[in-house]
Parts: sequence; C-alpha cells; structure tokens
Amino acid sequence: MTGRIRIDGQSIPFADGQTVMQAASGAGVFIPHLCYHPDYAANGSCKLCTCKIDGKQVSSCTTRAVDGQVIESNTEELNSERRALSQMLFVEGSHHCPSCEHSGNCVLQSMAYKLGMTALMFPDFTAGRETDASHPDLLINRDRCIYCHLCVRASRDSDGKDIFSITGRSENKSLAINTDSGLLKDSGITVDDAAANVCPVGCIIKKRDGFSKPIGQRIYDNRPVHYNKIKQPSLPDLDREPGRKLRVATCSLAGCFGCHMSFLDIDERIVELTEHVEFDRSPINDIKTCSTQCDIGLIEGGVCNTENIETLREFRDNCRILIAVGACAISGGVPALRNNVDVRELLEESYVNAVGIDNPQIPTDAELPHILEEVSPIHEVVKVDFFLPGCPPPADAFWQILTDIVEGRQPDLPYDLMQFD
Ligand code: SF4
Ligand code: SF4
Repeated sequence: MTGRIRIDGQSIPFADGQTVMQAASGAGVFIPHLCYHPDYAANGSCKLCTCKIDGKQVSSCTTRAVDGQVIESNTEELNSERRALSQMLFVEGSHHCPSCEHSGNCVLQSMAYKLGMTALMFPDFTAGRETDASHPDLLINRDRCIYCHLCVRASRDSDGKDIFSITGRSENKSLAINTDSGLLKDSGITVDDAAANVCPVGCIIKKRDGFSKPIGQRIYDNRPVHYNKIKQPSLPDLDREPGRKLRVATCSLAGCFGCHMSFLDIDERIVELTEHVEFDRSPINDIKTCSTQCDIGLIEGGVCNTENIETLREFRDNCRILIAVGACAISGGVPALRNNVDVRELLEESYVNAVGIDNPQIPTDAELPHILEEVSPIHEVVKVDFFLPGCPPPADAFWQILTDIVEGRQPDLPYDLMQFD
C-alpha cells in the first residue's frame, strides 16, 4: 500500500511500512533528529524528531505513515522545544566544540546550528564521567555521549558483538561496555567495526585520527542548510540622532584575544567603519575603561575570576547594546574545560608540581583576583543583547553586525556567518 501525507503543507508519498521520518527523508523534507539513522531500527529516544501528527505530538521516526495524515514539523513551537532539548544535551555533557575532534562533523553541533541555538541557556552540569583510553585504537569520551544508542544498535545488529549499553538515569546515565572489566580493551571491538564508526558526535573516536579529517570528508558541515533561519533577540533602540557616530567599546575577559584579531581581519573596511563609529575602550587604542556611555560593547572571553565579574558588570553598565562575542563568552569555551577539575588541584599542578618550578607555592597576594570554581558564560552574570558565535567569529560577521546596527537594521546574520567550525 502507498499513500500520501502532508508535512507543513507539502504533500509527499510514502511506501507501505514507512515511518513518517522515512517518508520525509525520501522526499527530501528535513525533520531534525539525533538518534535516527537510516541503516538501523528506529530508537525513538532523542525526541528531536517529535512532530504534531493529526494534532498529537509523537516521534516521527517511530510513527507509521498513514494516508491523509496532516503533520506539522517546522513550527516555532516545535523548534523551540527541539532547541531546549539540544541545549540540555550541551550542558549535561562536555561539549566545548572548539576543542573537539568532531567539530564540523557532529550531529549535535549541526542540529544546534539548524535550530538557531547560539547560547547555552541552562547552567553547566557536566557529570565528569570516566574517559576510557584503554583500547589501542579507540577512545571513549563519555561526557560527549548523547545516548542515541547508535553504537548499541550497530554493535548488536551489524557487528553481532553487543559491546555497548546505556546505563543509569539523569546525570548518572552513561555509556557502558559489556565486559567484566567494563573496559573497551577487553571488548573485542576493532577499529573497522560498524560500532566504532557510527558515533555521530565526539564520544567514540579513533586514536591517531584526531583533527585529521579534511573538510571534504566531514559530514554535517557539508550538508546544505535551508532549514531554520537563526533567530536572535531584537536589539534595544539606540535613539540616535542623525549623523551621530556610534561609540563602540571592546573588552576581553578569559579569552585569547582571537576574537579581537578576527575583528581586525575586516582589514581596510575599518577605515569605512570609522566614518560611522568611534572607538572607546578597546585594546586597539589601549583605552582601559569606558570613558562615557557607549552604544555597542563587544566582549570576548568567559568569566573565570572575580576581576572578570567586576569588569563585565562595569562594561555592561556602560554599553547600551552588549554583544557576547565568541565561544568563550557564549559557553565558557576552551577556558571552561577546567570546570571538571578542582581549582586547588589545578593551582597545585601549575605552581607546585609543574616541571621546572624553583619555588613551589600557590600565589596568595591579596592583589590577585580570586579564581572562581567554574568558568561561566557571560550571560550567567549580566544580560546579553546579542550572541555572535564562533571560535573566533569570522571578520565578515563583525562587519555585518556593525554595519546592520550603523544602518539602523536589526542584525540579520546569514547562516554561513553563524557557523564556525
Ligand atoms: S561532540 Fe564535539 S563537536 Fe559535537 S557538540 Fe559535543 S563538543 Fe561539539
Ligand atoms: S557513544 Fe556515540 S553512538 Fe554511542 S550512544 Fe553515545 S553518542 Fe550515540
């Protein structure tokens, strides 16, 4: 039997036995998903593919297509729920894409882009699960698992080995190896097994293969995206009288100044920009504090010590529009990799146990800022008006956002300027 279903108003055919997801994929209609894979039986666990089918919310990967079904998928209501699910996955694992071997080749990252996720909206609570590096050719970073069960299904159904399972609930949920030792080295998995190659994120990775994939061999960032335009909040009105130059300030917290360097990559366009803006506080002119109220503040870096908090609050007070620039400001980025390690341990490793230390002692001078237990994104401390993702964001993204504001438009960055891996 065959028939037709209607997804977001588009009529598409299906064959007998197909699910809504299969029919949609066959017709080139994209429904966001994490755990669905055409080669394996549906798992229905990630819930990103939830659609409204005849008015009821159900997983499209496990629901059979029935003639005449009316399906809603690409709606703001469903996408906002999908975005929230993605945001939860990001904060409950160690998802710092700039330092991940799978960046640019990752289904979670790709889905986040497609859903317009530009910032983490929940506090980080990475569980700190154990990494398994026991196998000679493979490594498991359990904090990046998204519980899609693909390795479970591939090992059981393709390799006939049944090596993986998912155990526990909530923050105790974890990828387990079905051996007495619980170690991958005793599992009999080989680097050519389907299970070793199916992980869609940076959890099961091959040793000596890291960061070596040429662009053409990466999967997700090469897919054309015509899905969901990334939405950003509306910016406050600058109440600008004609001809007045906008005052722009820039500042760095726990960052590497890479975002500032990228900004300078707008090259000679900076001359054009200075016809419309003037720079206040910035490392570019070495002004250390805002001299007056500014219109636009661009700030890079995460919040890692008490001085960062003070600087950030003062900067916020002095900028009408605050833009969080780059991965560190938006998610804590690379500096937040330390969040799984006790601060005391980190300081001892740096100042006491490190090689070549003559006088091992942790500095305690009262002038030094107090290091926080965790590095936080800036929106956990102050209100942020706009997020400019990237590590660093491309120069064209700085150019676009500043020219949009100068010309009185709400910034509207195209997808290729919001994708940065
Ligand atoms: S697995 Fe890696 S690339 Fe994918 S979301 Fe997590 S950190 Fe980013
Ligand atoms: S290890 Fe990878 S493939 Fe296996 S469940 Fe986790 S994310 Fe999915």
